[in-house]
Amino acid sequence: MVTLEIKDLIKLPPPLNQPLNEQQPLKLLTDEQSRRIDASLDGISAIGILKPGSQQEEEEIVRKFLGGIEKLLSEENNWTFLKPLTLSLKYCASCQTCSDACPVYTASGKQEIYRPTYRSEILRAIIQGYLKKKGLFNFGFTAKKVDLNWSTLARLAELSYRCTLCRRCAQACPLGIDNGLIAHEFRKVFSQELGIAPKELHQMGTVRQLDTGSSTGMRPKAFEDIRRFMEEEIEEKTGKKIAIPVDVKGADILLVHNAGEFVSWPENPEAFAILFDALGISWTLSSELAGYDAVNYGAWYDDFQLARIAMRHVSIAKDLKVNKIVVGECGHAHKATIVLADRLLPPDLAIPRISCLPVLEDIVLSGKLKLDPQRNNFPVTLHDPCNIVRMMGISQPQRRILRSICPQFVEMEPHGVDNYCCGGGGGFAVMNSLNFPDWRMAVAGRMKIKQIVETFRDTGNPETKKYVCAPCSNCKAQLRDLLEYYKVEEKINVAYIGLAELIVNAMPDLKEPFLP
Ligand code: SF4
Ligand code: SF4
Repeated sequence: MVTLEIKDLIKLPPPLNQPLNEQQPLKLLTDEQSRRIDASLDGISAIGILKPGSQQEEEEIVRKFLGGIEKLLSEENNWTFLKPLTLSLKYCASCQTCSDACPVYTASGKQEIYRPTYRSEILRAIIQGYLKKKGLFNFGFTAKKVDLNWSTLARLAELSYRCTLCRRCAQACPLGIDNGLIAHEFRKVFSQELGIAPKELHQMGTVRQLDTGSSTGMRPKAFEDIRRFMEEEIEEKTGKKIAIPVDVKGADILLVHNAGEFVSWPENPEAFAILFDALGISWTLSSELAGYDAVNYGAWYDDFQLARIAMRHVSIAKDLKVNKIVVGECGHAHKATIVLADRLLPPDLAIPRISCLPVLEDIVLSGKLKLDPQRNNFPVTLHDPCNIVRMMGISQPQRRILRSICPQFVEMEPHGVDNYCCGGGGGFAVMNSLNFPDWRMAVAGRMKIKQIVETFRDTGNPETKKYVCAPCSNCKAQLRDLLEYYKVEEKINVAYIGLAELIVNAMPDLKEPFLP
């Protein structure tokens, strides 16, 4: 339907504005992959949809898909999202205000297929053309016609993974219509009814987490080894002997954190341990399966998997008799555990669940912890994770912290609830199959890398080390890949960091800097 070329994408500022022929072209699938896999949407494959073997198979897929859409529109089967879905389908005024707000559509050079309302127009057409006779829905206006066949569905499945679910469009819409939700609902039908989902989110994500305890594959024994490793590292870095508590019954706080932090960035949970210890806070981690991994990829594509993992998290907290769950620096875990779980949990499991950001703010602004901002005297900007900031409205605690401990803190533009997604939202940061990572870098993350480079344009010497503070594991994974892809660290010395590490780095009694 579309062939993406670098020359059509939005232009990047210096020093990322090399001549076009020096920029990396978008990767195509190999010939062998193209023979097996459908990439007719835009030449990119996020899911690796295999071409069908027979006409019977094609018809079966269409039948199952329509059955899934019927379920999507019924209270009984879609009690989680039916209301916002039907409102979003019924009341769009077609004004296209949302289009300019969408970072994917904008970065792509306004490719029609990435327009936020493109997916909802197709959904309306399917309902109007194939399900209206069943009295399911009448929009009161005529939708476009769509031919529902295997090719349409394969493209639609891929298209539902060209949206980061950032909901910037929903915020811009004068009627509050949520086109991110429409992409999510398509993903849900493909997963729940047809078994089509990116393997990183399903087999290697929620299935593995429920089986081994973590989407990283970390089993309880490995978690215990890492916990001990973190204790040793804290002692080495700070001279403090701190026991990281685990399975402490009756603790005030159960900290659930993205297990990717324990594996890739242990300094972040180490920083939480140092801060909680310094303030004498009663807290614990859990060694139960999934208790040490806050991720819930179900939030991106499948309500059943979402519910299974959310139930595990709160059941563990209930068994430990903690007062509350505090969700660590992970945006989608905030959304899944604090917001979406409200739609799923029975009253006896409705344990208080809060964000770590106000907890960190209380620590920093309490005055109980000695902090020296001069230890963070380098340029720092803040990336706002969509789920924490736009979805939950938690935008100020992290700013108040940075303003008090980072003298050279500078805002990105736009920021706060108007931020651009890092391009790794909606599961993209962990989706690394076929040629999708190339699209994730060149298109989905384009507005963010542009914003980062523009933010640091006036911060003087390119050699001065600068930090993007990103209080979210998935955003950090995406920023790591973006900085590497665009060679930004090499060109202007920009790195990424979590928030808790910056706080610990300001503690004057540390032997050496805490930042890597
Ligand atoms: S949710 Fe974000 S990526 Fe998806 S259509 Fe809306 S603005 Fe675009
Ligand atoms: S801004 Fe809202 S009403 Fe306007 S086209 Fe987009 S979704 Fe429809």
